[in-house]
Amino acid sequence: MSTSSSNKIARRQFIQLSAVAAAGCMMRPGQEAMAQDMPKVEESEAMAQAMKYVHDASSVDASARANPATDQTCANCALVQGADGEAWRPCQIFPGKLVNSAGWCSVWAPKA
Ligand code: SF4
Repeated sequence: MSTSSSNKIARRQFIQLSAVAAAGCMMRPGQEAMAQDMPKVEESEAMAQAMKYVHDASSVDASARANPATDQTCANCALVQGADGEAWRPCQIFPGKLVNSAGWCSVWAPKA
């Protein structure tokens, strides 16, 4: 094998490894940025109003709840996603949007 073809193979391997490394570095930051960049649900949206979503669960009259427990919030709902402690988190009911951890909607369900 000539020096020239060895250099070509080494260069090709370097480029392939660089591409794999770059893809690995970009995956997680990209995924985290997606959740952070998601818009917040607006209480005025049709879907939010249909679900009676509010940013502040304490503003909901307990008698309006199917299960009138006052400690129901998005943070302790089975349908919330993301990490505990985050102020705004994704929710399965509002795909592509964030709900307030202190919020509530009529679909609230206890975590198993
Ligand atoms: Fe909050 Fe749960 Fe309603 Fe989603 S389904 S908005 S997490 S109460």
